[in-house]
Amino acid sequence: MDGKKLEYKGEEALKEIEKLTNNGAEIQESLLKQILTQNRETEYLNKYVKGDEKTDIAEFKRCVPVSSYEEIFSYIQRIANGEDSSIITGQPITEMLISSGTSGGEPKMMPTIAEDLDRRTFLYNLITPIISKYIPGLDEGKGMFLNFVKSEMSTTPCGLPVRTVLTSYYKSKHFKCRTRDPWNDFTSPDQTVLCNDVNQSMHCQLLAGLIQRHKVLRLGAVFASAFLRAISFLERNWQSLCDDIRRGELSSFVTDPGCCSAMSSVLSSPNPDLADEISEICSHKCWKGILLKIWPKAKYIEAVITGSMAQYIPALEHYSGGKLPLVASMYASSECYFGVNLKPLSDPADVAFTLLPNMCYFEFLPLGQNGTLLMDFEEGHVPNDKLVDLKNVKLGCFYEILVTTFAGLYRYRVGDVLQVVRFYNKAPQFRFICRRNVVISIDSDKTSEEDLHKSVTEAKKLLKPLDALLVDYTSYPDTSSVPGHYILYWEILHCGSKGSGEPLDTNVLQECCSVVEEQLDYVYRHLRNDKSIGPLEIRVVEPGTFEALMDLSISNGASVNQYKTPRCIKSSKAFNLLNSRVNASFFSPRVPSWGSKLC
Ligand code: AMP
Repeated sequence: MDGKKLEYKGEEALKEIEKLTNNGAEIQESLLKQILTQNRETEYLNKYVKGDEKTDIAEFKRCVPVSSYEEIFSYIQRIANGEDSSIITGQPITEMLISSGTSGGEPKMMPTIAEDLDRRTFLYNLITPIISKYIPGLDEGKGMFLNFVKSEMSTTPCGLPVRTVLTSYYKSKHFKCRTRDPWNDFTSPDQTVLCNDVNQSMHCQLLAGLIQRHKVLRLGAVFASAFLRAISFLERNWQSLCDDIRRGELSSFVTDPGCCSAMSSVLSSPNPDLADEISEICSHKCWKGILLKIWPKAKYIEAVITGSMAQYIPALEHYSGGKLPLVASMYASSECYFGVNLKPLSDPADVAFTLLPNMCYFEFLPLGQNGTLLMDFEEGHVPNDKLVDLKNVKLGCFYEILVTTFAGLYRYRVGDVLQVVRFYNKAPQFRFICRRNVVISIDSDKTSEEDLHKSVTEAKKLLKPLDALLVDYTSYPDTSSVPGHYILYWEILHCGSKGSGEPLDTNVLQECCSVVEEQLDYVYRHLRNDKSIGPLEIRVVEPGTFEALMDLSISNGASVNQYKTPRCIKSSKAFNLLNSRVNASFFSPRVPSWGSKLC
């Protein structure tokens, strides 16, 4: 990055934002030129542009095609198997980042180079100064951020680490050797974040947060789902956490050496008074507003609360008693970090992100209102000249975002649909609308309609020997308890002699749940093993339920001719209708197998 300056504090950070939002077009152009210059000898660019024209922006736009994972997969695979990074990038690829997107059921691997960590750190360092503009005094206490690493997925055959982008960051010197100033002062010791065992990590991080409860000014986690998981852990384990505080000793189930050593200084002596205070608060039956009771100085909760995470807003409001602003600070992915929210106190429904022009080269594919392709080309064949760049996006319009990165992605379709909702200086600000092709999601899983359909198709084969068939189905992401789980509503027709009065075979229906889970993609199965998603449930509904669902939709204005059963229901009316007709419910009896070929 320019001059390698990563740490902008206070006013300096805000000035940097002014610069980036006033000069986005120039910064983008010079960044693309740098990418093309650094990567000019790559096999990828050579395939499309020749000679001196390789660094020419107009030639790049004319000749280099729009790409998606399917197109770059062979390059990723070759690098994973030991070929030189120079087939796609001018700098060595240091890690493969596991994205929550999947391809053919397998996780996508995104290439990354060492200096990408500088870019991510730069973006992280802007966040607290932005929030401080609206909430003063944040340097007078600590942040309780519940961050976790995921155990190392594996390495590629040639030995490159395969990890999530957050694990990569927490394990980097950028995180471990950060300046320990009040902006970066967290209650969780680094070793507890770096612990691979999520229960031990959670126990220690919550313990550290409870012990320092009067210093905590900021609460959060990367995703709203993770923050709620922490509250649920606290609900189940506050007695054991209080015991630790009372005795001044860590529970014996915590054996991770890093956690034990780090917690010895946090939990240095018995504190029965503090244990009594926390017990008193936690023993109340209703946990509405609990957060401010435990952490009375907290000023906000920071987490991703947009996109599929918006479903967790009511739960966050419940635990905060509606008294803590929910701050959506950033928008990022494994491919590239994108931008920040310059109005951190805006209502969650109004959150818009400003893309930072020094992260990567952004382009945009214009879309229709509902995220559909606008034009006369097919999904897999987007013509180059249909893309617009950052300076040419229009207010109110919908786009899919594409990135060109130093690490070797070229005009790569990220799959997110954004809408331009306003401008700050000359920079457009984007509302996150949705992930293309995602029908149901609980955590970072992104199940498409097609994947759901394939899984149900496989599972319903088990009904055949019972002389029964699946009439119709839909799904619902149930996040009313933690962890959330998928519910499938199935209407089953019994063709056998006993008709629909026939009792349902529990083993078969449980097996159906299990088969659906086995067929869902890698990320879903991983999150199930990780207990971030609970067992899938099938609710068998009365005959005629899906007709009633159609009637409901039509009474709400849907056209009879075009009616299609929604594969995931959103409205509370539809949810209530389905639930009022449930005959029986079955849960998956085991976690699905989880493993990956990773090239
Ligand atoms: P991953 O590739 O697993 O890191 O996931 C990145 C994806 O998560 C993005 O492409 C978005 O679909 C989603 N995401 C990340 N940040 C946000 C945000 N602030 N709001 C909504 N969705 C987000």
